Amino acid sequence: MPANGQKTGSRRRPRGTGPWDPWTGADLGAGEWISHSPAQEAGLDVPRYCPECGRRRTVQVTPHGWTAVCPRHGETSSAESEQR
Ligand SMILES: [Zn+2]
Repeated sequence: MPANGQKTGSRRRPRGTGPWDPWTGADLGAGEWISHSPAQEAGLDVPRYCPECGRRRTVQVTPHGWTAVCPRHGETSSAESEQR
């Protein structure tokens, strides 16, 4: 069960409101599509955009990965996004 219900996955939204590509900020909900670099596909690059709102997040790189803070949706860390 998700800890705080923030990540409910792919909800359908009207055009222009996302979801957004976390690396490029492309509006995927509007049919925009992009190609990721190998580093991005491997999850080595920091996703700088919030997939929920498309805002640019404040990114901090740590010895263990990264932390990205959305002004609206709060903090996401590499540990959370790669939970295994
Ligand atoms: Zn957000």
